[in-house]
Amino acid sequence: MMFAPAMAGPPIPVLQLDSAGDEAPLRHLVHIVDAEGELDIGAIAANPEQLDWVAGTGETPSMGIIPDPVWFALRLDSSGDSRRLLAVSYPPLDHVDVYLLRQGRVLQHFVSGDQLPFESRTIGSRDFVFPLDFAAGAEYLILMRVQTTGALQLPVTLWDPDRFIEHTQHELVLQVLFIGILLALAAYNMLLYFAVRDRAYLWYVAYLVSYLLAQATLQGLGFQYLWPAAPAFNHFALPFFFAASFAAVGFFTHRFLNVKHYSEVWSALVLAMAWAGVTIIAMSLVLPYGLTLSIMIVATSIGSVLLFFCGCYLWWKGSALAPFYVVAWTLFLTGNLQYNLSKAGIVPYNAIYEYAPQFGTVLQVLLFSFALAYRINLERRQREQAQEQALVIQRQANEELELRVEERTNELKAAYDKVKQFSQLDGLTQLKNRAYFDQALETEWSRHTRDTVSIAVVMIDADNFKDINDMLGHLCGDDCLRYLAGVCSDKVHRAGDIVARYGGEEFVVLLPATELEGAAAVAEEIRSEIAAAPYQWNGQPVPLTVSIGVAACIPDRQQALEWLLRHADEALYAAKAAGRNRTMIYRPSGCYDECQSCPEKPEFP
Ligand code: GH3
Ligand code: MG
Ligand code: MG
Repeated sequence: MMFAPAMAGPPIPVLQLDSAGDEAPLRHLVHIVDAEGELDIGAIAANPEQLDWVAGTGETPSMGIIPDPVWFALRLDSSGDSRRLLAVSYPPLDHVDVYLLRQGRVLQHFVSGDQLPFESRTIGSRDFVFPLDFAAGAEYLILMRVQTTGALQLPVTLWDPDRFIEHTQHELVLQVLFIGILLALAAYNMLLYFAVRDRAYLWYVAYLVSYLLAQATLQGLGFQYLWPAAPAFNHFALPFFFAASFAAVGFFTHRFLNVKHYSEVWSALVLAMAWAGVTIIAMSLVLPYGLTLSIMIVATSIGSVLLFFCGCYLWWKGSALAPFYVVAWTLFLTGNLQYNLSKAGIVPYNAIYEYAPQFGTVLQVLLFSFALAYRINLERRQREQAQEQALVIQRQANEELELRVEERTNELKAAYDKVKQFSQLDGLTQLKNRAYFDQALETEWSRHTRDTVSIAVVMIDADNFKDINDMLGHLCGDDCLRYLAGVCSDKVHRAGDIVARYGGEEFVVLLPATELEGAAAVAEEIRSEIAAAPYQWNGQPVPLTVSIGVAACIPDRQQALEWLLRHADEALYAAKAAGRNRTMIYRPSGCYDECQSCPEKPEFP
């Protein structure tokens, strides 16, 4: 083996156990990739220095996804008897074999990895922990064979057992805090979902739970506490739960931000991303772990950035919820992108990155939770605004309706007044008609009953009117009637007096608060006017006269108003009987008396 030293890599570094401290991270491990699968402990133990080791970088070994077994080595010098715990704090590793050798002889050998049931572990911890015993003044060689289908990282620390107990306590507090926050949020938002019935909450809870399970798997807590006897499930649990959380956050975003409302393109992108997550869930069940993990890391990295930009776009478009979303997503991204890059071996391992996703996630989910509550407020405000608008519109409609009803009412009232007026009028003479007269007489009668004042009725009838009609035609007759109406109206002045057409060629005058003599005077004025100024038809005088009957009385409760009408009518008949063109008065004594002045009766031509 003359050329062996020349072919061999750097020597295996030596760690002085006494000066290493209670917590010694092993960062200077040399490693060798066993691509051919030909190395075994016997071959290495025989002559370790002859192998082609690759020097450590001084950082935690982080080799990305590498399916081949990798051997790591480190020499140790111990000056006293001691026990140390070798802890590998990356639980997803499939196979981890640890050998402690002295002078080429294997002193201790541990077989572990998450492909074995949890109970097979020497120390039941979520990390792989191996108790190593060192004796004074001896030189040891630690060999570790690691094979995994996922990302190969080897954050390994040599612990003083007492310090390790303290360390795990602190670590567990952080983990439990993280789990507690996420569980409480999940439970609370689940209850909110039952109250609000908005599917955004359900997606949010799905996201919280699946992300929690993914983190639990990653931290080895899922395997330790939830499925310790199912290493086969543990094998694909990581991409399974990460893909599930990825799909859930996609659907959550789509719903929560109402992406479809703002952009069809972004809506399609986000949904495609969510469905990609669903596809990866299915793939995790059938494809090899390493392949799914690679796809998952690429998809989630692209997807996370995509969702971030979707949030930015919606922010720009004016969505009130988008700012919360973008900030939350920024916090998450900074944590997880770092983590993913470190797992893919692109950036070097750093213990802070292990907690960065949790920290980012807690801030993110808290902001999401706040934004979901804020959304209720936002929607309530929108609803209130809509209600206010609806109220204003309703009020306007009511006002318009009221206005229209008022207009219609006025129109109807006007129409009614007109109809009423027409129904009270005589069409030919425009005097009041008989119906109106009867009503007015009744009213006046009852009023005069109270006041004990005399009321008078004057009945006027055109003489021989049939002859006028027969001789000169109905047109002339009608005109005569209009003329008579005009004379009657002219001679009756007092307010409250009513002139009406009583029928055919008969007229009636109601004179409230008028004595018999006064009424007779009015009657005689009408009669004499007609007799004195003969009516002309086509330039020819027409022998138009009237006979008039007058009656008056102080209304009495025992007396009917027909009494007054009857006696006025009888007086009129008396005037006719006495030769027409005269006024007859009904005297309270029971006789009919002619009015004094009785001009000659004009002759019919
Ligand atoms: P007397 O002196 O007895 O009252 O005789 P008279 O012809 O006036 O009485 P009569 O009751 O016999 O006839 C009334 C006539 O009045 C009958 C009808 O031709 C006429 N008359 C009634 N109403 C109208 C009308 O509205 N227009 C016209 N042109 N004539 C009418
Ligand atoms: Mg008559
Ligand atoms: Mg007549």
